[in-house]
Amino acid sequence: MGEDKPKFGGFIQEIMDQDKATGKYGGRVHTRFPPEPNGYLHIGHAKAICIDFGLAEANGGLCNLRFDDTNPSKEEVEYVESIKEDIRWLGFDWGDRLFFASDYFDRLYEYAVELIKRGKAYVCDLTADEIREYRGTLTEPGRNSPYRDRSVEENLDLFRRMKEGEFADGARVLRAKIDMASPNIVMRDPVLYRILRVPHHRTGDTWCIYPTYDYAHPLSDAIEGITHSLCTLEFEEHRPFYDWLLDTLEIPEPPQQIEFARLNLTYTLTSKRKLRKLVDEGYVRGWDDPRMPTLSGLRRRGYTPESIRELCARIGVAKANSVVDLGLLEHCLREDLNKRALRYMAVLRPLKVVIANYPEGQVEEFETENNPEDPSAGTRTVHFSRVIYIERDDFMEDPPKKFFRLAPGREVRLKSAYYITCQDVVKDPATGEIVELHCTYDPLSRGGATPDGRRVKGTIHFVSASHAVRAEVRLYDNLFLTEDPNEGDDFLKNLNPNSLEVLTDCLVEPALSTAKVGDRFQFLRHGYFCADPDSTPGRPVFNRIVSLRDTWQKLMDKD
Ligand code: ATP
Ligand code: MG
Repeated sequence: MGEDKPKFGGFIQEIMDQDKATGKYGGRVHTRFPPEPNGYLHIGHAKAICIDFGLAEANGGLCNLRFDDTNPSKEEVEYVESIKEDIRWLGFDWGDRLFFASDYFDRLYEYAVELIKRGKAYVCDLTADEIREYRGTLTEPGRNSPYRDRSVEENLDLFRRMKEGEFADGARVLRAKIDMASPNIVMRDPVLYRILRVPHHRTGDTWCIYPTYDYAHPLSDAIEGITHSLCTLEFEEHRPFYDWLLDTLEIPEPPQQIEFARLNLTYTLTSKRKLRKLVDEGYVRGWDDPRMPTLSGLRRRGYTPESIRELCARIGVAKANSVVDLGLLEHCLREDLNKRALRYMAVLRPLKVVIANYPEGQVEEFETENNPEDPSAGTRTVHFSRVIYIERDDFMEDPPKKFFRLAPGREVRLKSAYYITCQDVVKDPATGEIVELHCTYDPLSRGGATPDGRRVKGTIHFVSASHAVRAEVRLYDNLFLTEDPNEGDDFLKNLNPNSLEVLTDCLVEPALSTAKVGDRFQFLRHGYFCADPDSTPGRPVFNRIVSLRDTWQKLMDKD
């Protein structure tokens, strides 16, 4: 087994190795991924998923999917379904171990009764504001609640009546009795239960008291026999309470909480709350807008699950927070797509070209490779005829020195077809806009062969007018202008107003008219593209996944 261990396991893998060596947990590794169903998963969650599922897999263990649904809210069902879909898409499987913290509400209640009986929890009548005030600060100890010394009998009675709905929302809470002077504020008698008359997506109106996350989480782990409870660094200061709770209840072989650094990416927001704001206030089209860093957004954009897993493998598991360059994710994506995306020609901003000396009505077919990186991908036919379209910016009337594409009197190679020379520029007399070019072709250059050893510097792509299919292409830029989207006082101010550009009159090779939603291609010289669900028969819509220019590769080449 040893050799298969993923490199990314880092210090967590070391802990697991030690635990196996000492026989802790009988050598078992059992993890869980515990999303709160209050939004869609984002790229940060992908890291947690790769660690939770990946380390279980690498150690012959199991990983549960557990929804931490202790905080009832309306749209949870939609979120639950999306989260399941996203985890499967990433390539992980929880088998028959799909759980909900709400499955344990009865047992959590019983554990709370047990805490009260042990004199370790009490019902407190302070208001939320008073609790905050009594809690103290980082520099000042807290003060004991006046209700702290209620008898066990009184606490049992009040807690039962809380459950039975005798008191108003917020009137009372159940708190752990630990230490109001603890230097760790989390340990200053944290709240375990609150009264909340909100129907729950699974338990309906059964409960009007709900456990807090801090209380429910360690016990849910214990109930499921979790061994290593992996989470992000912000839970570090909650660990003493995690341990206190399991210890106080004398849970045998208590699970061990281990924290790792969150994934942060440049130009990328990884906060569900803020992402929800973008959706709710219409800054994006939805959770799956291709500009969103949600897994559903990345999927729609055309990202491959392999590229996301590769990113997680490369960044590994560390204890220190850092910000990863978005360029690294894009690099992983390009490496993956370069191997498997079939190449096509697509003209995004078409300029009409008439080949004056090419016979009217004639059509020729040229063989061209589908993927130069992969000969097994075979070849396809490209059509050539008298009227073609080229990219508008592949022509310049008055080109600078280093421009090697088409210009008056200049010759270029059309990919896999002929050499053409620009003879004439036709303009709209009213606007002066260039509307078409008149060119001639050299019949001896068929298939891109070089006649008389003549050198031509530029090769451009094209489509045949009578064969091409119209398509819509959506180009994306980062959703945020600042490397840190949270910079300044309001993240909305950092939104990039030009994050989406829609081109509606693109022309693509005819085979692309039947592209299936989710199919990915390389459009020569433009980047990688993915067919969007907005496509209709005969009218494909493509998202640009990523351009071809790899800034990360350049950085690595320099080293
Ligand atoms: P957010 O801060 O976006 O609301 P969250 O932590 O509230 O995220 P949860 O549903 O509670 O979201 O997260 C499920 C798991 O994913 C937790 O174990 C959490 O630690 C982990 N996680 C969340 N964000 C990241 C991130 N950026 N990098 C790595 N793991 C993360
Ligand atoms: Mg959370």
